[in-house]
Amino acid sequence: MFAAASRGVCLAILLLFGNAALAMTGETAEFVKLANDVYAYIGKRNDANAMVVVTKQGVVLVDTGNSQPDTRDLAAKIKSVTDQPVRWVVISQYHGDHFGGSPYFMPATLVVHDRVAKEIAAMKPYQVKSWRKRFPEKAEQLQNLSPVDMLLSFPDRINLNLGGKQIELIYVDDVYNTGDVAVWLPESGVLHGSFAAYKDRHPDVRPDYSHGTTLTMLKQLEALIALKPRVVIPSHGPLSNVADLQAMVDYVLLARQKVRTMMADNLPLPEIIKRFHMNEFKDWDRATHFDWLAETIHRELSGLGPIIVTTRDISAAGELTGVAEAGRNLTLRTADGKDVRLRVTSDTDIEGAADRTQLKIGMKITALYKTPDDFNAALGFDVIEMNVKQ
Ligand SMILES: [Zn+2]
Repeated sequence: MFAAASRGVCLAILLLFGNAALAMTGETAEFVKLANDVYAYIGKRNDANAMVVVTKQGVVLVDTGNSQPDTRDLAAKIKSVTDQPVRWVVISQYHGDHFGGSPYFMPATLVVHDRVAKEIAAMKPYQVKSWRKRFPEKAEQLQNLSPVDMLLSFPDRINLNLGGKQIELIYVDDVYNTGDVAVWLPESGVLHGSFAAYKDRHPDVRPDYSHGTTLTMLKQLEALIALKPRVVIPSHGPLSNVADLQAMVDYVLLARQKVRTMMADNLPLPEIIKRFHMNEFKDWDRATHFDWLAETIHRELSGLGPIIVTTRDISAAGELTGVAEAGRNLTLRTADGKDVRLRVTSDTDIEGAADRTQLKIGMKITALYKTPDDFNAALGFDVIEMNVKQ
C-alpha cells in the first residue's frame, strides 16, 4: 500500500518537474518581453536565442536565428511588435547558428568584434555565395552584397546609442575564440550573455579551441556576473540569471579539477576521456560534449595550444539514412554501404533544396565535405557543397 502510494507520488513529481529538469526550450520558439521594448527570442529545442531592442529609430537585433525558417520566424515576431526596420545586427558569436541568418536583415549594419571582421573579410567564395542565396526572397537585395560591405567592428567595447536606448557591447579577451560579444542593457538589467552563458547545458568547448577554452569561459563568466544582470539571455536554452552563471562557474571548476586529478594519477588521455563525466549535473543538455570537454581541458592544463587541424576535401554520393536536428546532422550511406556522418553548417552551399530543413531520409545526394587529419570529428564532417537529387 505504502509502496504503491509512494510510486504514485514519484510519478506525480516526475510529471510536475520532468520537463523542467531537462532545461530544454519548447517545440516552438517563444518571443518573451523582458522589459520595455526589449524582447528575447528563445529558440526551439535549445536552438540559438536572439535579443531584440526596439527603439523609435530602428531595431537592434542580437543574433539571427538557427536556420532559415527560424530567421523568418524571428523577423515575423519582430514585425509583430514594431514597424521599425532592423538597423543594427550584433553578432554575439561567429558561428553559423548566430551569424547565419544575417543576410535576411540586410541592408542593416553588422556589428562584430574586430577579429570577426577579419574572418568575414577572408570568407571563401563558396561561403559568400551561400550567404547570398540563403534567402531566395532577398535575392535582389543580396545580389551584389557581401557581409564585409556591411561591417562595423570594434576592439573591446562599444556603446550603441539608438533612439534613446543605451546598448553596451562587451568583448572579453579570448586568445583563441573569435570575438564573443556580450550585449548589456544597463537601463533594464537585461544581458545577452553570448557564448559562456549556457544554462543547464554541457558546454561545447573543443580541442581546436574553436569555441574558446574553459579558462576563457571562467573569464567571461566573471565579467558577466560582475554586471549583476536581472535576466540573462544565454546563447542557447531557457532564460537564466546570475545563479545560473554561477552554476556554470562551479561546473567548469569541477570539470577542470577532475581532469587535473586524473592527470596527477598519470592516466593517459584516452583513459581520462573514457572516465570523464559530469553526471553531477544531471539532466543538463548535450552529454555528447564530454569527450571534447575532457580533451580540451587536458590540453589547457598541459599548457598546449589548440590542435591544429588540417583537412582534406572528400566527395561522396549516396542516400540519406539519417536526418537529425532539422537537417544539421546527416547520415549518408554510400554505394559501398559505408555510413558517413555529415554536418551541414550555415556556410554549406546547398543545391536542389531550399535549405537544410528540407532534407529528408531517402534523398539521394552528393556532398563535398572536409575530413580532418588525426582529429576526432565527434559531431561529423562539415559539408562544403551538397547537391540534392531528391
Ligand atoms: Zn550557438
